[in-house]
Amino acid sequence: MNVLDSELMIAALLREGYSLAESMKKADIILFNTCSIRQHAEDKIYSALGRLRLVKEAHPEKIIGVMGCMAQKDNSLIFKRAPFVDLVLGPGQIARLPELIEKIRAGQGPQMELSLERRGRGRHEVEDSFDFYDPMREATARLNPFMAYVRIMFGCDQFCTYCIVPYVRGPEQSRPVGEILAEIRQLVDQGCREITLIGQTVSKYHDKTSGTSLSGLLEMCERIAETTNLERIRFVTSHPNSMTTDLFEAVRDLPHVMPYFHVPAQSGSNAQLKKMNRGYSVEKYREVCHQIYETVPGAAITSDFIVGFCDESEDDFQQTIQLVEDIRFKNSFIFKFSPREGTKAYELWEDNIPDEVKRRRNNELLAVQNRISTEDSEKFIGQEVEILVEGTSKNANKLTILEGQDSNFYENSHDPNAILQLTGRTPCDRIVVFDGPRSLIGEIKKVKIVKASPFTLFGE
Ligand code: SF4
Repeated sequence: MNVLDSELMIAALLREGYSLAESMKKADIILFNTCSIRQHAEDKIYSALGRLRLVKEAHPEKIIGVMGCMAQKDNSLIFKRAPFVDLVLGPGQIARLPELIEKIRAGQGPQMELSLERRGRGRHEVEDSFDFYDPMREATARLNPFMAYVRIMFGCDQFCTYCIVPYVRGPEQSRPVGEILAEIRQLVDQGCREITLIGQTVSKYHDKTSGTSLSGLLEMCERIAETTNLERIRFVTSHPNSMTTDLFEAVRDLPHVMPYFHVPAQSGSNAQLKKMNRGYSVEKYREVCHQIYETVPGAAITSDFIVGFCDESEDDFQQTIQLVEDIRFKNSFIFKFSPREGTKAYELWEDNIPDEVKRRRNNELLAVQNRISTEDSEKFIGQEVEILVEGTSKNANKLTILEGQDSNFYENSHDPNAILQLTGRTPCDRIVVFDGPRSLIGEIKKVKIVKASPFTLFGE
């Protein structure tokens, strides 16, 4: 979500004639796009702002802005804690960024625009977010010109008891299908080979005018892919309760839709799932995963888990380990519970699992997942996989810099025939690293896997 929001902010400013600065020092405008899903993410922003206090004193003309979910959640508190901030902008107000910057430049003082308040769980109290949404895409504002996120939904109505998202991103709304398809065509015209449809609960997509569901939308995207250079269609994040047979069959039957599902489980214990208000049992979750594996051959599933949520017993945790063992996720994103003010868990229950227990459970679960990921990755050795080549492999390059060689050697080499370490992903979203010329970037290529680590395949 934040990667896409950042792209849209950059694009909005590029269209006004701004350009990206090489460093914070050279920038006239410094924007922090924030996340409030965990306390740690917020703490980092406040300390980054603290470091800018002296910069602002020396250069009062520099504009400093805080955007995104933390801006929405903390709003005027940000001005109190960092009085030199000029702009606070909620995630639903990105389209207004250039106008507000102009107001600040014109001397109208600090500006704050928030997404509409959510005053309850109903949809009726809130105007549609897409009225405030700027869907204009700009290839140069993207980290990768060949891949793009496309927002198909705003907000969330699930109200998991630990989660701040429904309060900061507002109620669940699906964008009209015509708007989404127009945006995808624009991206394809800009050279995009892969699009990922995103929403907090993307499997609940429902265009109220046409009645189109996610499987229907995937079919329409497939029609675009059949006649253009669009090669891959993905979607994240799914919610187990809204994943139905038609979705699995669409993924199986549509050749450009990739067989990859991100389905957060959060816990393997029914007591914890109930306390989290996830709305499903572990039996239901297992059934969804089995249906995916049965319907879509070779599909990969990834998951999210929270360890150390309120009252999580050792037995609850062991049930989570068992779920990971049984479903064999491609990988899992594992987090220690972090209480968020404003959520039900924060208001009602004590954060009663000691940090060392959270840490131990995190490490134990990670070890189980790493073993499974290693075993499954090793099965690819000797196989040919098809990848979309995304770009150079920065981390891998750092490891192979020769003595005396410029550390930016790989990044600086624009010779199309120079051999670089490149990276791409398989249809199941496995990362592949291999050596090849820059000219392969943006192409679909076959790579033979010769080595594997838990989360990376190495090929030729
Ligand atoms: S489904 Fe639950 S965890 Fe996901 S965004 Fe909505 S409230 Fe948060």
